[in-house]
Amino acid sequence: MIVYGTRAVLQKTEYIYDACPNCRAANSVLINVYQRYAHIFWIPFFPIGKTGISACKGCSQVLKLNQMPESLKLSYENIKSNTRIPVWTFIGVFLIGAGIVAGVVSENQKAEKVGRLILAPKKNDVFEIKIKDDQYTLYKVQKVERDTVYFVANKFVTNQESGISDLTDKGDQAFDESTTYGISIPKLVEMNKSDKIVDIDRK
Ligand SMILES: [Zn+2]
Repeated sequence: MIVYGTRAVLQKTEYIYDACPNCRAANSVLINVYQRYAHIFWIPFFPIGKTGISACKGCSQVLKLNQMPESLKLSYENIKSNTRIPVWTFIGVFLIGAGIVAGVVSENQKAEKVGRLILAPKKNDVFEIKIKDDQYTLYKVQKVERDTVYFVANKFVTNQESGISDLTDKGDQAFDESTTYGISIPKLVEMNKSDKIVDIDRK
């Protein structure tokens, strides 16, 4: 379950000169300005405007923004315009942005690594292969002869890219050593171009 919603934090408290609309006392009304923000699991996500109340210390009348007479509203707007949006209310937006950047960087690094290893495969390199949509398996390098790479295939297939790590966890005995497949390096490069090689693991 995702807990989300809005919260408000007090940002500014200021007494105003205007007379209280209820008891007519001057210098008696204070105005609170609140910053509202959306949160997910109480982590501030983004700001969503401000709100405020007025409170009179003489007669104790408390008015919400929509209950204030025009004069109080004006004072509120004045105080509000001098109140900045706190940077921390954007934490969630920053986190998501940072996550996207980290994701892109790690994808680029993986693509660069695959492009490099594919040209110089070594015994026991494990290729994560997309056989077709919803079918992934592992090929392990047995030997390399000139430009041909000989693989043994994993006995298992997973239907999700995220399931590949389960195949990796099954270890060496999950590879069918009885059959070896030869694939040329140019053919591997071609497979990589058409996104059939998800990753290459070298120990
Ligand atoms: Zn009052």
